[in-house]
Amino acid sequence: MTERARWRELLARYLRQRAELGQRELYLESCTNAELLERLRAPAAAGGVAREADVIRVDAPAVREAVPVDAPGSGDRFDELRADALACTLCRLAEGRTTVVFGEGDRHADLLVVGEAPGYEEDRQGRPFVGPAGKLLDKMLAAIGFRRDEVFICNVLKCRPPQNRDPVADEVAACRPYLRKQVELVAPKAICAFGRFAAQTLLATDLSLGRLRGATHEFMGIPVVVTYHPAALLRNQQWKRPTWEDLKVLRRIYDEAGGRAPGGSRG
Ligand code: SF4
Repeated sequence: MTERARWRELLARYLRQRAELGQRELYLESCTNAELLERLRAPAAAGGVAREADVIRVDAPAVREAVPVDAPGSGDRFDELRADALACTLCRLAEGRTTVVFGEGDRHADLLVVGEAPGYEEDRQGRPFVGPAGKLLDKMLAAIGFRRDEVFICNVLKCRPPQNRDPVADEVAACRPYLRKQVELVAPKAICAFGRFAAQTLLATDLSLGRLRGATHEFMGIPVVVTYHPAALLRNQQWKRPTWEDLKVLRRIYDEAGGRAPGGSRG
C-alpha cells in the first residue's frame, strides 16, 4: 500500500469512527467534514487526497486513534487515548484548565464510575473525585465492597468548566468520544452514573435524576445505575438513604453481570 493510500484509509476510518461516535466537528481548519469525505471518495486525479495540505492539518493523535488495536506498532490503546486527551484542545475548556483529568483506577475494572467534570481540586491535582466529595465516594464504594483502586473513575468532561459552571452541549459533544472509548477499552460489567449530568449524558436524555433513579439503564450495552453525586449528598443529607438503595441495586446488577468479586479476591 502506498503512503498516500495508507493515509487515505486511515483518514476514512477516522472520519467514520468520529461520525459513529456522534462527533460532528473535524480537526481541520479549511474544510468541512462533508468536503473531506468527498475528497477521500474522489480519485486522486480528481482532487482526492492529493491535497496533502489538508492531510497534515489532521492532528496526529486523532489519526493514530484510527489504527486498530492489533496493528503493528499501535501500542497500548488506553495509554494512547490518555495521551490524546492530555493534549486535547477540542473545546474551549482547554483554555482555562490546569490539567486534563483523564480518570484513574483499574483500567480492567468491572465497575466504571462516571461523574460530571473536574472541580477546582480535581483540576489542580489531575485526579477525579478528590476532596470531600472524593472521600465520600470512597466510602460509598466501600459500602458495597469496593476499594477505590478496584474501579475505574472518570468524568463526562475531562477539563474543568470555569467557576464550575454547567457544561455546555458542544463541550459535551467534543468530549464524548473520550468517554465512549474509555467505556470500550475498560469494558466494565456495570456503570454507575453519579449525578444528573453524568446520567443525562450517558443515557442521552433530559429526564430528571429523580426519574432516572430506581431503574437499570444501558450504555453501549452495559447496565447503568444512576444515583446522586457525592457533592450533592454532602449538601443534602436526606438523599443518603435513597443513595444507599441505589448502591445496593448497583452491587446486585454488578454481581448478576458477572463482575469479579471485589475486596482483593482477584487472581
Ligand atoms: S473537555 Fe474534553 S474535548 Fe474539551 S478540551 Fe478537555 S479533553 Fe478536549
